[in-house]
Amino acid sequence: MRTAELFEQRPVFSLEVFPPKPDADESVIYQTLEQLSDIKPDFISVTYGAGGGKNGCKTIQIASDIQNRYGVESVAHLPCIGLTRTQARDILDRMHEAGIENILALRGDRTDGSDAAGDFRHASDLISFINEYYDFNIIAACYPEIHPESTGAVDDLKWLRYKVDCGADHLITQLFLDNSYFYDFREKACIAGIEAPIEAGIMPVTNKRQIERMVKLCGVELPKKFVRVLEKYEHNETALRDAGIAYAIDQITDLIAEGADGIHLYTMNNPYIAHRIYDAVQNLISVPAAIS
Ligand code: FAD
Repeated sequence: MRTAELFEQRPVFSLEVFPPKPDADESVIYQTLEQLSDIKPDFISVTYGAGGGKNGCKTIQIASDIQNRYGVESVAHLPCIGLTRTQARDILDRMHEAGIENILALRGDRTDGSDAAGDFRHASDLISFINEYYDFNIIAACYPEIHPESTGAVDDLKWLRYKVDCGADHLITQLFLDNSYFYDFREKACIAGIEAPIEAGIMPVTNKRQIERMVKLCGVELPKKFVRVLEKYEHNETALRDAGIAYAIDQITDLIAEGADGIHLYTMNNPYIAHRIYDAVQNLISVPAAIS
């Protein structure tokens, strides 16, 4: 099923997982998926390491298994940085043969020289390419706090609109910890004529190193309320985990009440945390959007 069709009835609830590292025990991801599939999410997306490395094969296999073994819709991520058109065709052909219908088309993060060899400069190039040769449902990334490389909010929205015009059917945000960024962004996206549904990306922050890495990589602002929680519980692993779960539940409750199209939970491959959050919000997401 194409994910863009899921938004008609009620807020969508979806999950993200990442494939195991090359030397890791592969059975662990299947235990994780087994437990996550109990949640009956609308779909599960599988990340893909930029640069077209071998882990991409795992993305395709896992996305295919999510559908065929667990009966849950899947989305395969695909970052285009460093890929030639021939390589992109090969990957997309394999995704199509594996029965995958939904692609999250991304640029990927730039590293030194990473895009020198490739044929794609931006996600929009990949989106146009997919639309020219295939019939996938296409999802794209968006940034309530602006992409770190962006020259400003207006430009960022202009390029987002361009991604939608090139063929993106549905958008998922980068994580944010202050919902007001999401509401502001959603309003501006609407003014910019972006009509694709926008799912809010929520990452339960359960350890200090994780959030420090995210702030550095994504430029996410830490609200005062969040910093207070972090400082109070940073030396107590269990308390910080529970506080991170409670914070994510609070964010989701507010987002659903404000009519968000959907919630995309970055699970970090942790079914325990995903279950705690889902158990707390499942009645909220089962209410049809028109009533909310
Ligand atoms: P783009 O849309 O190309 O945007 C990048 C920058 O260029 C922005 O500043 C934008 O304003 C600007 N821009 C966009 N289009 C144009 C244009 N045509 N001309 C000029 N400027 C333009 N990375 C991975 O490697 N693997 C993953 O699996 C992965 N999954 C992700 C999932 C989500 C939901 C999100 C939000 C991000 C994910 N990322 C992943 C990270 C992503 O690859 C990075 O954020 C990357 O830096 C930008 O990707 P993009 O697709 O948004 O790029």
